Amino acid sequence: MGATKRTILIVDDSKFNRAIVRSLLKDEYDVLEAGDGDEGLAILKEKYREISLVLLDLIMPKMTGYEFLEVVKKSKKLATVPIVVMTSSDKENEEETCLQLGAVDFIQKPYSNAIVKGRVNNIVRIREVSSTLTYVETDALTGLYTKEAFFYHAKQFIEANNTKKIDLVITDVENFKLVNSIYGETKSDAVVCHIARAFSCAMENGVIARYGGDKFVGIYTPDERMNDDWLRCFIDNVTKLAPIPNLVIKCGLYTNVDKTLSIETMCDRAMLAVRSLNGNYDTEPFTTYDGPVSQKHMRDKQFESSFQEAVENDEFVVWYQPKYDAFTEELVSAEALVRWQPKDGSIISPGEFIPVFEEDGLIVRLDEIVFRKVCTQIKKWLDEGKKVPPVSINLSRASLYHDGTVEKYGKIADEIGVPKQYIPIELTESAAFKSLQIQELTNRLKEAGFQLHMDDFGSGESSLASFNILPFDAVKLDKSLVDFIGDPGGDELLKYTIALAHFKDMKVVAEGVETKAQLETLKKLECDTIQGYYFAAPKPFEEYSRIIDEYNA
Ligand code: C2E
Ligand code: CA
Ligand code: CA
Repeated sequence: MGATKRTILIVDDSKFNRAIVRSLLKDEYDVLEAGDGDEGLAILKEKYREISLVLLDLIMPKMTGYEFLEVVKKSKKLATVPIVVMTSSDKENEEETCLQLGAVDFIQKPYSNAIVKGRVNNIVRIREVSSTLTYVETDALTGLYTKEAFFYHAKQFIEANNTKKIDLVITDVENFKLVNSIYGETKSDAVVCHIARAFSCAMENGVIARYGGDKFVGIYTPDERMNDDWLRCFIDNVTKLAPIPNLVIKCGLYTNVDKTLSIETMCDRAMLAVRSLNGNYDTEPFTTYDGPVSQKHMRDKQFESSFQEAVENDEFVVWYQPKYDAFTEELVSAEALVRWQPKDGSIISPGEFIPVFEEDGLIVRLDEIVFRKVCTQIKKWLDEGKKVPPVSINLSRASLYHDGTVEKYGKIADEIGVPKQYIPIELTESAAFKSLQIQELTNRLKEAGFQLHMDDFGSGESSLASFNILPFDAVKLDKSLVDFIGDPGGDELLKYTIALAHFKDMKVVAEGVETKAQLETLKKLECDTIQGYYFAAPKPFEEYSRIIDEYNA
C-alpha cells in the first residue's frame, strides 16, 4: 500500500473492545472510534471518502449494528465503504442477515490478532483496486463525472500535474429554479446538457464534472489561451446558443490552487467566488477567489473560530429597539437585536456575523443565548414589580428546524419564569412557509404559548399567500416596503397589504420608519406599530433600561 496511512473506523460501544482493536491496527492505520451507531454514521457521512473500512459491533444500545448496516446500504456513497462485522455469537442466520445487509466479512470474538489484521489488510487492498468502480461514476443526464467521482479524479489529476499551476472553475446558472418553473423539466434538462457540452469543449485538458443541479466544475492546467477573454467568450457562447433566451451564467474561479487542500475545499472556494457575485453580472459574469472574496472568507473563518471564546467571555450582548403605537406614539414593545462586542471595544453588527453563523449552524447556539438573556432580563424587571413591554426575539430558520427547539424554548421560558406573551418570536417570511414541516413547527410554537411575528415581509420572494398559511399574530413590513411610501403605487401596495393583514386578524408593524412623512402615511393606512430610527434606534441595555424606568414612572 502507498505511503499515507489508510483510515479505519471502529463502531463499538465497548471502550475495551475499541482499545484492543486500536492497539492492533494503530501502527498501520489511522483509527477513528465511535461509541454508538449514531456517532459512527455521523463520522462515516463526513469522512466516507477517507475511510477504508468499518469494523462494526452488532449489539449496541440505541442503534444496533443491523440498523447501521441498513442505513449504509441505502446510501450509494456510504455503501462504497466495506463493513466488517464483529460478532460474538456463531449463529449462522446472524451472518446471513449481515451479508444481506451488505457486510463484507466477519470476525469472531474473541479476536485472534492475526485474523483481524489479515482480514482488514485484504479487504482494504481489494477495495483500493476497485473503489472508484463501486459507485456511480457518471451523471445519467450529461454523461459527465458526478461530484463524488470528480473528487477522486481531480485528486489524481493534481498528483499527475504536481509541478504545474492548476485552476478550478465552477459555473452556475442564475435563478435556475425560475428556468425550471417557467420552461419545465425537459427544457431545463436541455439547458443543463447544453452547458455540459459547451463546458467539455472549452476544457479539453482537464477533468470536469456536473457539480449538482445546474452547476459544473472543472479543474485544469491553464495555458496562455485560458485567460479572462477565454472565459468571457465561453460564457457568451453558452448564453447565445442556449435553448432558452436570457440564460445567465456565472463562474467562480479558484486559480493556482493550494494543492495541499482537499478538493472539497477548493470547490468551496470557487463556490464562494460565485456567490460573491450576488446578482451583479453586468460588468463581469465571473470572479476569482482572492482579494475581497478570500478576505471576507478569512474574516468569516475568524468569526467561526472565535465564537466559543466570545460565548465564554460574554461578548454577545442584547440591544433593544423600542416599538411605538402608531396613534398614541407610546412605547408598546421592543425587539432584541444582538451585537458582538469583543474586548477591543469594537462593536460588530449582526449583518456581518449572523449570515456566517447561519451557514455553519452556530446560529442555533447564538439564538438560544439571546433568548435566555432576554428572558432573564424580563424576569428581573418583573421581579422588581415593573410593567414590561414584550421583547421579541429573532429565530433563524436553522434554529427553527433544529431538533427540539420548540420544546427547549418553552422549557427555558418556564424555568426562568417568564410568561410567553412577553417574548414573541420573529420568523423570517419566505417561500419555505409552504412546507409542512414549518407549518407543524409554527403550530407547536403557538401551542407552547408563543406569539409569532412574520419578519421581513415584502423583502424577498414573499407572497400574500403567506398570510393564509401560518398562525401569525403580527406581520412586520420590511423597510424596503416602507421605503416605497411616496412612490407611485407605493402607498397603495401598503394599503392593501395592511388591509389584508387586518382581515386575517394580524397586527401590522412597520420597520425602518425614518421620517415623519412615512409615519403620517402609515397612520393613515392604519398600521398599528412603528419601529425605526424616527422614534428610536436599537439601544444598549443601559439606555433601554432608562426607557423602561420612564415608562414605569
Ligand atoms: P431585522 O430583524 O430585520 O432587524 C431590523 C434591522 O433594521 C436592525 O438591524 C435594525 O437596527 C435596523 N433598523 C431599525 N430601524 C431602522 C431604520 O429606521 N432605518 C434603518 N436603515 N435600519 C433600521 P441590525 O440590528 O443590524 O440587525 C440586522 C439583522 O440581523 C436583523 O434584521 C436580524 O435579521 C438579524 N439579527 C439580529 N439579532 C439577531 C438574533 O439574535 N438572532 C437572529 N437569528 N438574527 C438576528
Ligand atoms: Ca426581526
Ligand atoms: Ca426585518
